Amino acid sequence: KQRIASRVANIKPSPSSSAADRANELRRQGQDIISLVVGEPDFDTPPHIGEAAWQAIQRGETRYTANSGSLAMQQAITGKLERENALHYQENEIVVTNGAKSAIFTAFLATIEAGDEVIIPAPYWVSYPDMVIACEGTPVIAQCTEAEGFKLTPERLRSVLTEKSRWLVINSPSNPTGASYNHDDYVALAEVLADYPDLLIMTDDIYEHIRYDDQDNVHLLNAAPQLKGQTLIINGVSKTYAMTGWRIGFAAGPFYLIDALQKLQSQSAGNACSVSQAAAIEAYNGDQSFVKQSQAVYQSRRNNTLAKINQIDGLHCSPPDGAFYLYVGCEKLIGLQTEQGHTLNTDTDVVLYLLETANVATVAGSAYGLSPYFRMSIATSQNLLDDACERIALALAKLK
Ligand code: PLP
Repeated sequence: KQRIASRVANIKPSPSSSAADRANELRRQGQDIISLVVGEPDFDTPPHIGEAAWQAIQRGETRYTANSGSLAMQQAITGKLERENALHYQENEIVVTNGAKSAIFTAFLATIEAGDEVIIPAPYWVSYPDMVIACEGTPVIAQCTEAEGFKLTPERLRSVLTEKSRWLVINSPSNPTGASYNHDDYVALAEVLADYPDLLIMTDDIYEHIRYDDQDNVHLLNAAPQLKGQTLIINGVSKTYAMTGWRIGFAAGPFYLIDALQKLQSQSAGNACSVSQAAAIEAYNGDQSFVKQSQAVYQSRRNNTLAKINQIDGLHCSPPDGAFYLYVGCEKLIGLQTEQGHTLNTDTDVVLYLLETANVATVAGSAYGLSPYFRMSIATSQNLLDDACERIALALAKLK
């Protein structure tokens, strides 16, 4: 008898983790690999945040907190939402989770009945479809082309909505494209959503502070406050404060949803780490200069690397509005031949070729639901990014 449940057999491991594993394996074999795979800041957590964690340990804050997070953490989050997003929430409308990832998974598990549909605009973050499948739901992929700015149009949204639609997921700025919705985009989507009062809307705002060219940080609920009763906000400290390892995220939303999430969390993961919560309180309430400083570094890397990629024959990339990735179009490479006589048929072939010939690790667009592209993370030093671009240019020049 099969020992592993079908809900696990039906999902795949995260493709970015698999690509990172492959790059590490080649490194162990002695190859000099530049890995542009991971989706996490290359900065250390700012010292004042680490200090707050240490002080919490010394005060003995090493025990369970309330399941939905300590009151001080919930207050830091309601304060953040008020200050940065002009959104008003009560403490009992917040649940603190083990990273944003766990907030998303718990939200799906708490709400999806078998066969319910979850609308996921593509290119998407790799985990959404598999999480939905693990919860026995059906991911419905809504394609968003580069010509549409990789954004969901109202027409496309209307065409994928059915009476089985349970959730719409909006991730702005987006991983992997960096696409970001503005006020007018949201108003247009909200007009369609007005016909679907039972639909739930998830906004994954994890990259909200990594955005370029001083764009407005507008939230769906600023543009369409009437959707508040059906919207769940997902966010956390991982990307903004370089705190991926601390595992603090949150969900904010109407009490009926938050109550369901906290009930499920109380019987699964339990509360998020108490010491990490103390650190995250300092992240939200303390000195914010790291956010501006890191943003300036990302902006300069993004500008430099974008220019370099767009100079390489066969590649093109639209400027991302935010997040720390470039989603590079490579359709001109499809059909070309390597020196060994292999034809590049897919973006997976391109990524493999770049890994083996340029020793640069990236992730194929097929993992994100739109091909032929590949994703490069720019959360690494400019020197390495410059090297990577040079190596890619040399490798591509060898194709016939
Ligand atoms: N949402 C998106 C779009 C992400 O890219 C990531 C991390 O890669 C997460 C959520 C998960 O964040 P966390 O580390 O807080 O779980």
